[in-house]
Amino acid sequence: MGSFQSARHRMVRRQLRGREISDERVLSAMATVPRERFVSERLADQAYDDVPLPIGFGQTISQPYMVALTCQAARIRRGDRVLDVGCGSGYQAAVLAELGAEVYAVECIPELADRAAQTLAALGLEDRVTVQCGDGSVGHPEHAPFDAITVGAAAPRFPAALFEQLRVHGRMVVPIGDRSGQWLEVVTRGPEGPVTSRSVPCRFVPLVGAEGFQG
Ligand code: SAH
Repeated sequence: MGSFQSARHRMVRRQLRGREISDERVLSAMATVPRERFVSERLADQAYDDVPLPIGFGQTISQPYMVALTCQAARIRRGDRVLDVGCGSGYQAAVLAELGAEVYAVECIPELADRAAQTLAALGLEDRVTVQCGDGSVGHPEHAPFDAITVGAAAPRFPAALFEQLRVHGRMVVPIGDRSGQWLEVVTRGPEGPVTSRSVPCRFVPLVGAEGFQG
């Protein structure tokens, strides 16, 4: 346990503080959530490496830096209602919950959705994160509007359906591009429409479903 904690603090120092992650609340949440619990036991020793790791079904837990950058760019505040599309291992959802958000997480692979729900419950986060299995590319209209939306898979184009579920002044962080590479884009819902800024180049697994990549 001690060694995981020191690996986690080293990760925060070298991979996050050493780059442009400066939001102390995000740094503190990243220093708290035990990432090793979101990967298989076999990969626990690599949990704090600067890379995405396989979680089965061809999917990955996102690189710590991408999770931190997403949370920082989404400017999460305590009490925000947040939609997490492509919940995968549940790690991003756990960091959002640690930041005080009320999280609705959607994952389309049933086994991953079940496992994420179990991991989050084992960490006592079940009251703050609701995991649903389904197509998150069309959002979660029953729980909209959201203060923020985080998308953990690459979208082929601007996700209009998700944008519609943002509150005015809400923020969405989403990788947009083709299968081989994307830009992490930060979209704010202004009173007149979307205001978009590009953050960093990135490579996420593809978003599937109605608004995702086909085939
Ligand atoms: N933030 C997650 C990332 C997981 S990878 C983590 O760190 O664990 C992205 C996930 O998005 C995969 O599990 C994939 O199954 C899921 N996904 C892809 N398209 C989806 C869709 N349309 N609806 C819900 N989940 C989707």
